[in-house]
Amino acid sequence: MQTQAQGQEPGRIVVVGSLNADLTIYTQRLPSPGETLHGEGFTVNPGGKSANQAVAAGRLGGNVSLVGAVGRDANGQMLLDSCAAANVDVSQVRRADGVETGVAVVTVDAHGENSIVISAGANGTLSPADVEAAGSAFDGAAVLCLCLEVGVDTVEAAARAGAEAGATVLLNLSPYAPIPASLARLSNVLLVNAHEASQFLDGEQIPDPDAETSAWEPVLELLVARGLPSAVVTLGAQGSVVLDSTAAAQKRIVRIHPTRVDAVDTTGAGDAFTGGLAARLAAGDALADAAAFASVGAALAATKKGTQAAYPDAAAVNARLK
Ligand code: ATP
Repeated sequence: MQTQAQGQEPGRIVVVGSLNADLTIYTQRLPSPGETLHGEGFTVNPGGKSANQAVAAGRLGGNVSLVGAVGRDANGQMLLDSCAAANVDVSQVRRADGVETGVAVVTVDAHGENSIVISAGANGTLSPADVEAAGSAFDGAAVLCLCLEVGVDTVEAAARAGAEAGATVLLNLSPYAPIPASLARLSNVLLVNAHEASQFLDGEQIPDPDAETSAWEPVLELLVARGLPSAVVTLGAQGSVVLDSTAAAQKRIVRIHPTRVDAVDTTGAGDAFTGGLAARLAAGDALADAAAFASVGAALAATKKGTQAAYPDAAAVNARLK
């Protein structure tokens, strides 16, 4: 892993994965199976887990390159423009022929809860060949962000390139899919929400989000036993728990208490957290410190509608940290 001395320029962050147009309808409550509801507004916004993570890190001052694919359509251009506006380098985002840009159909209820269906589109064309073509983007990278909205073979190729470059590899197991043990071993930090943690542990019973930290300790130990040295479980409005088994960590298991906010829309809060974590790890923070910063950024992101448009800059996060 690359390390960063205080006061130096932050290291570079590479994000490999998905870009989606978020088609969002706001409702009083989420529909039941077979039910039709009247919505209360419709928006089309830039999204996709990897684009969101890249924009979150870029807005916080990170030096970010995104590797991905979009179609030659208006949604693809909207996504490139949004990333570029957050200072994300999109020169490795391929314009794919004959396929539409990925979309996510999102429903958000009056409590800010959401349900999401994704159509991969161009994201489904991202392949290990794209990772190879982006080769120089990995040179000297400090942090690599990966999620599972693109194929696992592509994710593993990227993890290998990141590990070879000495980057800290963040693996966000979302949306959950089984992964090979080889991918877990190439990764440094596992990022999951409580549901994904249970899925990764083959349906293991897990504590309620508001359970004592001690109740989460065995879960964190089981997660890292899958081959990664460190893990973060995000717990929505209950904050997060961190296990950092790297030698420099003073406290192995840390609870990050949530920042109290009036949540309007938690869509993309997890990506805001991941982007914030990447930005602070690239700047040299230890994992628990980076998670504390990321937690504030994610909470602030939940106070506004949408995903990328809601992500805070470093000044807003630092103001809330004081
Ligand atoms: P999504 O898939 O909607 O992006 P997620 O399930 O991956 O979210 P969560 O665990 O819901 O991720 O949220 C990530 C982090 O965002 C939490 O660990 C917490 O720090 C912050 N957060 C989310 N919701 C709230 C909230 N209502 N109040 C304060 N912080 C929140």
